[in-house]
Amino acid sequence: MKIAIEELAGCSGCTIAVLDLHEMILDVLEKAEIVYSPVIMDVKEPPEGVDVSFVTGCVRNEENKERLEKIRSRSKILVALGTCACYGGISGLSMLSSNEDILNTVYRGVETVSEDGVIPKNVPPFLYRAFAVGDIAKIDYYITGCPPKEQFLRQIIPDLLKGDKTELSKKSVCSE
Ligand code: SF4
Repeated sequence: MKIAIEELAGCSGCTIAVLDLHEMILDVLEKAEIVYSPVIMDVKEPPEGVDVSFVTGCVRNEENKERLEKIRSRSKILVALGTCACYGGISGLSMLSSNEDILNTVYRGVETVSEDGVIPKNVPPFLYRAFAVGDIAKIDYYITGCPPKEQFLRQIIPDLLKGDKTELSKKSVCSE
């Protein structure tokens, strides 16, 4: 069983939530190998034939879109992990500002950038708005939360590793 975790426009808190499974992560690693995660390993892109991939963060720029399409095409099951991936979330709040204002704030309005205010060439172009991952790609499961609650991950991950269909309990994401 191969697992991947892709990061789009987000804060990596959702990936850390997976690692926060504590001792359960050892059970996971007995049955599965994490083959790709930009936060926890130096692998440039997901391999072909991933069994279960989690995608965190929303789609805000062209690179996010390309990465989402790639992980979708290389995964049997794709799980949207966290509120940014499911709905846009915190990253989606970027739509309250114009793209130009964001670039000015991040690259021109701070002291740590070059004095000429030139935006680095490797900054991917923004899309015209933020998208939830389900707007761009077919998603098999959604786990919301910012970050997702450990109890949801504890419920869904064993089923996914067995290759079973899974379903979260139908109750408010705000209740315990
Ligand atoms: Fe970070 Fe929350 Fe977005 Fe996850 S849902 S990437 S924890 S802001």
